[in-house]
Amino acid sequence: METIQEAMSSEAVQNVLMQGYHANRIREALERMILLLGPEEIAHITQEAIVHELEQMDEEDLERLRRENAELRQMLMCKSCFIQRTTHLNLGCQHMMCETCSYKDFCGICFAPITIVFPVSRS
Ligand SMILES: [Zn+2]
Ligand SMILES: [Zn+2]
Repeated sequence: METIQEAMSSEAVQNVLMQGYHANRIREALERMILLLGPEEIAHITQEAIVHELEQMDEEDLERLRRENAELRQMLMCKSCFIQRTTHLNLGCQHMMCETCSYKDFCGICFAPITIVFPVSRS
């Protein structure tokens, strides 16, 4: 941890701070770089290398958000037709489905009869 503390007061880090990056974010970047390069290298790390690592972290965050967003969209997708979003709940089997599928006689997921259907509003 002392290594990080030292690195945080280095000129390179001060310059990155002046570029507008948050100190906690830079600390995280340094921790990653220590794991990657070893603690000896951190003492003479360059401003460019830190910024590069920060950009890498941004890219990873963005990728994670994209993935989470895709998973969320998948979750909202009707599991019966995989075309429309789920908007209705069949009380008989408790499955969520789209409006089109809710007009069918049987649930496309478990084949239980479609009995009473509730529209479920989603904002
Ligand atoms: Zn459907
Ligand atoms: Zn069902």
